Formats: sequence, structure tokens, C-alpha cells
Amino acid sequence: MTITLALSKGRIFDETLPMLARAGIEVLEDPERSRKLILPTSRADLRVVLVRASDVPTYVQYGGADLGVAGKDVLLEHDGTGLYQPLDLRIARCRMSVAVRDDYDYAGAVRQGSRIRVATKYTQTARQHFADKGVHVDLIKLYGSMELAPLTGLADAIVDLVSTGSTLKANHLVEVERIMDISSRLVVNQAALKLKREPLRALIDAFAAAVAEKP
Ligand code: ATP
Ligand code: MG
Repeated sequence: MTITLALSKGRIFDETLPMLARAGIEVLEDPERSRKLILPTSRADLRVVLVRASDVPTYVQYGGADLGVAGKDVLLEHDGTGLYQPLDLRIARCRMSVAVRDDYDYAGAVRQGSRIRVATKYTQTARQHFADKGVHVDLIKLYGSMELAPLTGLADAIVDLVSTGSTLKANHLVEVERIMDISSRLVVNQAALKLKREPLRALIDAFAAAVAEKP
């Protein structure tokens, strides 16, 4: 019975690797060097598939992978049916925030009840956030480079992920609201959890042990 683990290249792959290593599992190919999308591991019954970060929940939901690692940001934008989320891995940590150009009076616009144009990749989370606050917004869906939107007049504000804040700063943007803390979670296909119960349980437990060891 082979287990398929879905990961995205970059920080999620890089930060999951040491957790697998703690469980004695080594990924046998480097995704930055190889063009392969299916990577063998040191365990014959475990393989890694490389997918786009926002595609991880889809792969796991429909059984293209038995489990995967996905950011809370991605999971909130995705319908979670058929997905079991047993563990916060506490990796790829950042926050979701509202940012505006440093010369834009966000507090004033909110106070006056103005309609604010907000560009974001995270429309569900943004819609919920502003609805909770009673702020009127027009949401503009983007797929990347959100920082550009306020600089070009496309939007007044953005909702984006922030870690150090240096990208915002380089683009004359300031963080005006923190919406939530973000980290990556383990997601598991519910049918697979029944069919491959033993090996999946063992793998989830190994991840849990690796999380517990983290400072
Ligand atoms: P895609 O390539 O599909 O557009 P992406 O660019 O969001 O997705 P990554 O940049 O690899 O993909 O981010 C993967 C995950 O890592 C995100 O979903 C988020 O949870 C987290 N993340 C994103 N940006 C940061 C950051 N600056 N610091 C820490 N974690 C981050
Ligand atoms: Mg990115």
C-alpha cells in the first residue's frame, strides 16, 4: 500500500523535509535540481508529489494524494469537504494582514464609512474579515504581486501574507490590521484514513512527534 504525500515547492517542501527526517524518512531527489514531479523517498511505500500550494487541498480531497501540507490561508479559501485536518505543523508561519500605501488614511476611510477597494488573492478571508468589522469593501481578485495594486491605483488596500514586512516597506506600504496568524497544516483524505489506517496513523504520529520537539 503506497502512501502519497502532496507538498508544494519552496518553503513548505523545505520546512517539511526536517520533519520527515526526524521520522527517519529522506526524500531521494531535490526538486530544485530535478524536473520530476513524483519523488521517491527512503521508504518504498511513501512518495512525494509536487503540486502548486493552492492545489494541495484539491489533490488530497479527491484522493490524488493521501495527505498533504497546506497553509491555513489556502485552506480557508478552499471548501474543506472530505479533508481531515489533524495537525498544525507550525511551519511556514506568517500573518494575514491589511496593508495600504503609507499616505492613505485607512482609519479615516473606515471611520467615514467609505467604500474601500481591496485587492487580494484571499477573497473569502477578506470578505469575512471586513463583514465582521462592518467595513464596506469592493474586492478585486488577484493571483499575485498584490503590493502593486495600491501603487498603481488599482486598489486602496490589499490583504496579503506578511512575515518580516520588508516587501511592504520596499513598496511604501504599511500594515494597518492583522487579520490572523497563519501556519501550515497536515491535511488527510478521509477515505484514505480508513483504507490505509495503520500507515497513515503512523505517519501522522511521526509528524506530531516532530511538532512536539519544536521550540
Ligand atoms: P502559488 O505558487 O500557488 O501561487 P504561493 O506563492 O502562495 O502559491 P508559497 O510562496 O510557496 O506559494 O507559499 C506557500 C505557503 O507558505 C502559503 O500558502 C503560506 O501559508 C505560506 N507563506 C506564504 N508567504 C509566506 C511568508 N512570507 N512567510 C512565511 N510563510 C509564508
Ligand atoms: Mg509566494
